[in-house]
Amino acid sequence: MPLRRIIPFGRRLIGDGSSKLTGYAVVVLSWIAAAIVAWLLRPWVPETALGLLFIPVICGVSVQWGLRFGLFAAALGVLTLYFLNAPGAHATLMLFAAVAIATAFGGDWIFKQKADGLKSAQALAEREAHLHSIYDTAPDALIVIDERGIIQSYSAAAERVFQWRASEALGRNVKMLMPQPYQEEHDRYVGNYLRTGERRIIGVGRIVVGERKDGSTFPLELAVGEVRSERGRVFTGFIRDLTERQATEARLQELQSELVHMSRFTAMGEMASAIAHEINQPLSAIANYLSGGRRILERGPAVDPLVTEALEKAGAQALRAGEIIRRLRDFLARREGERAVEPLARLVQEACALALVGAKEDGVRVRYQFDPQVDSVLVDRVQVQQVVVNLVRNALDAMQTVKMRGLLISSAPADPGMARISVADTGPGLDEAAAARLFEPFVTTKPQGMGVGLSISRTIVEAHGGHIWTEPNPGGGAIFHFTVRLADADANGEQHDA
Ligand code: ADP
Repeated sequence: MPLRRIIPFGRRLIGDGSSKLTGYAVVVLSWIAAAIVAWLLRPWVPETALGLLFIPVICGVSVQWGLRFGLFAAALGVLTLYFLNAPGAHATLMLFAAVAIATAFGGDWIFKQKADGLKSAQALAEREAHLHSIYDTAPDALIVIDERGIIQSYSAAAERVFQWRASEALGRNVKMLMPQPYQEEHDRYVGNYLRTGERRIIGVGRIVVGERKDGSTFPLELAVGEVRSERGRVFTGFIRDLTERQATEARLQELQSELVHMSRFTAMGEMASAIAHEINQPLSAIANYLSGGRRILERGPAVDPLVTEALEKAGAQALRAGEIIRRLRDFLARREGERAVEPLARLVQEACALALVGAKEDGVRVRYQFDPQVDSVLVDRVQVQQVVVNLVRNALDAMQTVKMRGLLISSAPADPGMARISVADTGPGLDEAAAARLFEPFVTTKPQGMGVGLSISRTIVEAHGGHIWTEPNPGGGAIFHFTVRLADADANGEQHDA
């Protein structure tokens, strides 16, 4: 027989055999001990009571090894009592045999319960090991927190995503994984949910911003599940890092395509507006020259009336072309889009999440400071997100050449009834030559630049009744500000108390 088959066979034999052997050995030894004690006690104890000595032995072995051993011990007990008892005490013997067998069965019942308990404990341990393996290999980060926001479990993927080790994160508040202002708001969110049961994120999933150990922020998709147990509620967060480009492309496609559509549309409008501006003047000049020419002809000797008529018609056509262009400009200026009341911080964050895709490799540290007093604005969401994307991308482009890359995106109250959004970077600042004309179309300092981003942004902001401007960042770099109308401000710009 080959060795690899002998070894397991031997193991089985020894393994099973040794426990059986121990069982029988214990039965025999206990029986011998009980028999000796019975023999010694014979002068003082009535023979009928000696059988009681065997009951603990039967009970012990059947609890420990099961029915077979219990019955074996019972049989030995009956035999012993048979020899110890006076001949003819059959009734006592029968009674003892019945009690001994019942004890063996009782012990066996406990033995089986123990075995079942052991099996379910094993199954539980197996399930737990399985869960742990899922936990450790799942590509998405999994974080479990309790009602107070304290991190209870922290998966291997979470270590990769947030850069904190499990030993550093466990037992701390989950706020450590969020940038401001969410650190402060998280407790309030959880408390509010526990009190009112109003779900904002549980079971819904949302794109939010996380913060790594090094302070850099990144977009992530968060879904939260809730489990209620006797020890209270726990929440499990499933986190997907959206800086992973492939995943991002799928997740943000919808938002992106909206923005791309809007940016093409606005760029077209911008182009049309620029052309209209350029062509309008020559057209007016043509119309003026034609009417002047006609008047000169009328003053002189008689000319063919067809010529005067042709000049008149040419002039009318030039005026008509000018009128078409004026209407086009009016249309572009008046285009308002779909205004709705939107939460400013969320709107800006979503746009930033999109603009920051790929910023992880650049090591940009992004901070947010949203003023909750100006969180409700009346805007066309996609258009304003377009402005934010433009400003953030410009800031990222500008910071390519510097080492310290920091971006601060903030909101604050502005003129009455307005909210100001600011994007401040630590880049080289504005190019002096271009600074005065930044918001005009086709002004760019980039080799591949189109120079329409800022002019589109200005068109959008002005169509929203706000304005856009820039100033140097005191610490170096540039700040772009723009304003939008608050939702609870009336047409005169006055803000109402909520
Ligand atoms: P583009 O990005 O195609 O050049 P934009 O209209 O968005 O067009 O920007 C116009 C110019 O404004 C840029 O070429 C750049 O010179 C300047 N600019 C915009 N944002 C910044 C910034 N944050 N820091 C420095 N310069 C900037």
